[in-house]
Amino acid sequence: MTTLGILGGGQLGRMLAMAAARLGIDCHIYCPEADPPAGQVSAAVTVAGYDDETALSAFAETVDSVTTEFENVPAATARFLAARVPVHPSAEALEIAQDRIAEKSFLNGIGIDTAPWRAVDTLADLTAALGEIGPRGVLKTCRLGYDGKGQARLNGPEDAPDAFAAMKGAPAVLEGFAAFEREISVIAARGTDGTVRCYDPGENHHSEGILRTTTVPARIDDATRAAALAMAERIVTELDYVGVIGVEMFAMPGGTLLVNEIAPRVHNTGHWTIEGCAVSQFEQHVRAVCGIPLGDPARHSDAVMENLIGDDINAVPALLAEPGAALHLYGKGEARPGRKMGHVTRLVTG
Ligand code: AMP
Repeated sequence: MTTLGILGGGQLGRMLAMAAARLGIDCHIYCPEADPPAGQVSAAVTVAGYDDETALSAFAETVDSVTTEFENVPAATARFLAARVPVHPSAEALEIAQDRIAEKSFLNGIGIDTAPWRAVDTLADLTAALGEIGPRGVLKTCRLGYDGKGQARLNGPEDAPDAFAAMKGAPAVLEGFAAFEREISVIAARGTDGTVRCYDPGENHHSEGILRTTTVPARIDDATRAAALAMAERIVTELDYVGVIGVEMFAMPGGTLLVNEIAPRVHNTGHWTIEGCAVSQFEQHVRAVCGIPLGDPARHSDAVMENLIGDDINAVPALLAEPGAALHLYGKGEARPGRKMGHVTRLVTG
């Protein structure tokens, strides 16, 4: 029996473990939080810190390979484990994705456009950056931001002091405001043999920085679709990446694509693949990191995935009764505002 170790215990790990089970693979979850959602459906759980070398060594003894379901697993943890057992994605890929400046430098360095950006460590840097890249922008902490956290919008130089204060002294990056037509993402997978498989781009709708829905197909023309897939393929190949990655893009008027960010893991905008494809992003990731040949990412249906956030959980009785609604609940106790409690996917038929 193969055992896959997963660093992180949230819903992404939970859905990875469920996909692994279908392939006859056991999962061992490692995370610092007690009672992780992924642990409820896994063969083993270790609750310990990412810097606990004794616990990490013991974990490495029990698994055949290790992956992550959370991009902020310290790169040092991945490096420590990689000396003992195969780890995908690599510490280097995690390091790039964990720091917005490293990420944008990498992307721009391989010829992929992003919104214009400047590093911001002081209020004077921010004022200068606004002068250079325009009056509107989004200031983001370089590290540890997600779901719109650690971000401040600026509509003009007058917003600079408040936006800077919102960073709480953390190194930040100012991005020029991207007046996009729509947001799309490509879920790409690369195997240990270098094979790349991409899912059809999804169109994403966010509110308050949190993903609400993903719809496939995205409303983009064939040339934009081809360009998006080519960009994702270039990113995973240049990173020498193994596993699934989410590449979020802004589709600009005129057809240009800017990459917003890369997430070195299975991705919320790829949840529709569970119902919409024979091989979901979760199974694809398990295949990639376990050295199993990748599967067919073809989409057999149109689909809409809707996140259930906070109080949306109250809609569960209605969703249970709704024909065609594929409901996924993550086994989280308390429905706090902004907390992802589950999702529902509806295939679009007829
Ligand atoms: P992020 O955490 O970087 O993915 O940002 C969350 C969401 O904020 C994105 O999905 C966009 O809807 C919006 N956003 C982020 N950066 C920008 C930008 N530079 N211009 C316009 N909207 C942005």
